[in-house]
Amino acid sequence: RQLLQRDNDIQALRLNRQRLLGIAMLVGLGTLLAIAALLYARYRSTLRHRNELRASRDELQRVANTDALTGLANRHAAARALDERLGRIPEPLTVMLLDLDEFKRINDGHGHQAGDAVLREAAARMRAALPSGAMLGRWGGEEFIVILDGEPGREPAAIAEGVRAALASGPVVFEGVTIPVTVSIGLATAFSGDGIDALLAEADAALYRAKDAGRNRVVYGGKTRMPA
Ligand code: GH3
Ligand code: MG
Ligand code: MG
Repeated sequence: RQLLQRDNDIQALRLNRQRLLGIAMLVGLGTLLAIAALLYARYRSTLRHRNELRASRDELQRVANTDALTGLANRHAAARALDERLGRIPEPLTVMLLDLDEFKRINDGHGHQAGDAVLREAAARMRAALPSGAMLGRWGGEEFIVILDGEPGREPAAIAEGVRAALASGPVVFEGVTIPVTVSIGLATAFSGDGIDALLAEADAALYRAKDAGRNRVVYGGKTRMPA
């Protein structure tokens, strides 16, 4: 009888031990699951954070490179593109400087808002008249820049002339007022060994000649051959 009692006790102890083990395993499993869930949440939040950082970095970059009024590349972006493209010389590279004619008069006569509308419309007409491979930027105020691959032969000549004609094709209408607009364009070509400053100075000198010759025209500068 005593033996039976001891046997029962041992049985009970065993059962108890098994129950404790079961509980310990459940607790362990629960803890593991909780840790896994925490780690997963952490991973998700890091991922979300990284995507947010990426998006804001891209947005910052876009803003830093874009002219807010026209949506074109700004001077910073255009200068960098020019720098990168000049690094790939020996292929010749042509630059156009475009300056809206008598723009101060538009501001003075119709107001700054009208001037802004003309700048936006001029930018859109330039973009539409240029091949998709050409880089167009706002160089400052009412001045724009185009970076074109190649030497001005017949093709860049036709492109520059197309841009000039597109601007002069009709007045800009702003709040019912028609505002005539024209542009003067100076071109120059960089060959192997040319620096950015010399290239821009040549294009600028050509632009000055276009202004001097009566505006609303295209002039080729420096060592660039006049296309036949
Ligand atoms: P030219 O034919 O010789 O180029 O004469 P212009 O009047 O176009 O040249 P000028 O340099 O005398 O005047 C440029 C004007 O452009 C002066 C400036 O107030 C104006 N301007 C520059 N940036 C902006 C802008 O963002 N918006 C407006 N509305 N005007 C601007
Ligand atoms: Mg100007
Ligand atoms: Mg001007």
